[in-house]
Amino acid sequence: MPRPKPSEPPLGKCVGGYSFGCRTDEHPFGRLINIFCMNCHARMGCSLCVQPAEELACKMCHQWATPAALRLHGPMVASDKVLGEVQKILNNVPF
Ligand SMILES: [Zn+2]
Ligand SMILES: [Zn+2]
Repeated sequence: MPRPKPSEPPLGKCVGGYSFGCRTDEHPFGRLINIFCMNCHARMGCSLCVQPAEELACKMCHQWATPAALRLHGPMVASDKVLGEVQKILNNVPF
């Protein structure tokens, strides 16, 4: 089913956006209705349901969604290395 474009601020209730750890229960909009990813412009949610700006990551493009988070944590590429390490450990686990 095609989703309506999230460009118009929906009226009424917010049910979360595409940020990691976003609230998905219905809640009233926060002070900022729409917070967008700085990379892919997916809606992260409203100011009530997203993580703090320094912890705001995007589930759509798997990047930090704000300049503040990017500055604090560095590019997400670093986490690929971590994932590789995790994979290596998992590969050594006998099932
Ligand atoms: Zn994004
Ligand atoms: Zn919200």
